[in-house]
Amino acid sequence: MQRIGVFVCHCGTNIAGTVDVKKVAEMAAKETGVVHAEDYQYMCSEAGQSKIIAAIREKGLTGVVVCSCSPRMHETTFRKAAEKAGLNPYMVEIANIREHCSWIHKDMQEATEKAVILARAAIAKVHLNTPLKPGESRVTKRALVIGGGIAGIQTALDIADAGYKVDIVEKTPSIGGRMSQLDKTFPTLDCSACILTPKMVEAASHENITIYTYSEIEKVAGFVGDFTVDIRKKARSVDMEKCTGCGVCSEKCPSKKNPSEFNRGLGNRSAIYIPFAQAIPNVPVIDREHCTKFKTGKCGVCAKVCQAGAVDYDQQDEIITQNYGAIVAATGFDMIGLDKYDEYAYSQSKDVITSLELERIMNAAGPTGGHLERLSDGRAPKNIVFVQCVGSRCSDARGKSYCSKICCMYTAKHAMLIRDKYPDTNVTVFYIDVRTPGKNFDEFYRRAVEDYGVNYIKGQVGKVFLQPDGTLLVQASDLLDNRQIRMEADMVVLAAAIEPNPDARRIATMLTASIDTNNFLTEAHAKLRPVESPTAGIFLSGVCQGSKDIPETVAQAGAAAVKVIGLLAKEKLTTNPCTAKADELLCNGCSQCANVCPYGAISYEEKQVNDHGIRETRRIAAVNNALCQGCGACTVTCPSGAMDLQGFSNRQMISEVDAICR
Ligand code: FAD
Ligand code: SF4
Ligand code: SF4
Repeated sequence: MQRIGVFVCHCGTNIAGTVDVKKVAEMAAKETGVVHAEDYQYMCSEAGQSKIIAAIREKGLTGVVVCSCSPRMHETTFRKAAEKAGLNPYMVEIANIREHCSWIHKDMQEATEKAVILARAAIAKVHLNTPLKPGESRVTKRALVIGGGIAGIQTALDIADAGYKVDIVEKTPSIGGRMSQLDKTFPTLDCSACILTPKMVEAASHENITIYTYSEIEKVAGFVGDFTVDIRKKARSVDMEKCTGCGVCSEKCPSKKNPSEFNRGLGNRSAIYIPFAQAIPNVPVIDREHCTKFKTGKCGVCAKVCQAGAVDYDQQDEIITQNYGAIVAATGFDMIGLDKYDEYAYSQSKDVITSLELERIMNAAGPTGGHLERLSDGRAPKNIVFVQCVGSRCSDARGKSYCSKICCMYTAKHAMLIRDKYPDTNVTVFYIDVRTPGKNFDEFYRRAVEDYGVNYIKGQVGKVFLQPDGTLLVQASDLLDNRQIRMEADMVVLAAAIEPNPDARRIATMLTASIDTNNFLTEAHAKLRPVESPTAGIFLSGVCQGSKDIPETVAQAGAAAVKVIGLLAKEKLTTNPCTAKADELLCNGCSQCANVCPYGAISYEEKQVNDHGIRETRRIAAVNNALCQGCGACTVTCPSGAMDLQGFSNRQMISEVDAICR
């Protein structure tokens, strides 16, 4: 018989405000095997932990139940306290009477009854707990960063500066991400390229960083400390070693009218191209879909003009397999498609553009050489209207319910830059609210209004009409004056919502990381573990986790790097002992468990078994404890009930259910 201690936490008023904690302790004390029960204000505090340690020592406890918050918060805290007192940490169970009880109930009597039942279930489980011993696994001292935007670059630089090897895998032909497409950046209005390019160069020349551009992750296996990743290095059709980046091939390539992804389709590029002048690597890639040689077998001009003999039409994709201790997702974002928003005439007029397209137009290296001009006729616009929250903060299913967070600031930036360079241009911004909570952000917005004369109107744009003369008519409501407005415009700029890169779901599946309903990667804990995913060894950096600007992205990149460094600095990791185990007398080797295991942890071995005096060789499921994550998929699949989870056995679960139903 176990000697069990029950410790009921008030969590200030978080629990005690709704649950009669004294009653819970009193009722728990009546359960079989319970030799100690007490309540305390904050069990996780040093004083609370000391109470647990003292009771284990003084009363010879063999099991502990802490009635408190979620085990995700403090299970480790209480297990460590038990270990200090000499008790096996896996003899501690948590009854979650906060998230599962006090936070979701209002009535004290009902909440108290439920807390008593939850405590009873945990006590029933502890009766069947057995001491468990964690295993050990090695740590590969190398990190992988998926995505080479500012988030990925900064994370890689910080890890590499600490002395660890890092690989960046970027799917486009160059690192740089969205920041490389921007002109000037808020809140300081410095040139984006001037602050990004040195970082790109630093990453490319860092002795600890290897960059795989035009590459993607194909397969991820393994676990924290020892992931095995297959990287597909797509064929560039240009030998990176031989190419000098002279650009003659692009110049001479006859297939010139292919939309430039870098310029958001506002300009063209050749079939063999370097996406932008500061690209890293400064080596072209052949877009085989638009290359005449690949389409018809004819042409071959680039190979003929290339003095370095770098063009290689026979180059094949390469698979590189590499081991990593930690993986950082930094896959960033894109803007939503605007096909569902035809009321803004985006598909009808070239002069209705997105904010990212405006960044390219304003950029000296962009499609108009940095001149603000209408794409329909090249004229300078006199009246520009900005429309905020296109697809953000939507209550209908068309758009995103969240605030994209960066648009208020970049629109103020665009408005200011335009008024500064073209003082005769009238700029009007239609907004729902102006959200500028960052450091010096509100001052920035006020400068746009007070110093640059930008006309801000609180109201929503209902429709943009394309008029017969090619100009635009904006119909909107002015919410403060409670009136309808019709305004002529030469150019309309839409602050379209941002969303995670379309690859986010696929990457999350490969990493077994969680994503939210909007496909942003989810952090393990919004406040306490904001750069870790719930999957051990997987970290998050930049906009793939949620909307953010560059300063926030860089801060989060540094935080993710620190977590990775902390992991790689360890020689060995302890592994969770709550793994699956097959009962060799019940297992019939049917393979069903191996088929469902998402971690490939189950194999089969021929084993001599003694079944009630009959000795025979049987095919038995064998679990690799280093790979098993204790998800339990195999235990519910096993038709003969042979597979069980240590620490969460079928008997333990049933005894909990019995205790609840008692
Ligand atoms: P990204 O820049 O999107 O980088 C992600 C990278 O990951 C990309 O290179 C992508 O190709 C790569 N990738 C994606 N999927 C994969 C995959 N499966 N495998 C490999 N690689 C992959 N912020 C400011 O602070 N100031 C400003 O003035 C400002 N202006 C802005 C203006 C506009 C119009 C917009 C849209 C944004 C602006 N921002 C500004 C925000 C800024 O762009 C972002 O904060 C920043 O780019 C986020 O960086 P990131 O690395 O997280 O994402
Ligand atoms: Fe352009 Fe393809 Fe011809 Fe090279 S072979 S010049 S990439 S069309
Ligand atoms: Fe695989 Fe079973 Fe372990 Fe889950 S519990 S990881 S299915 S062996």
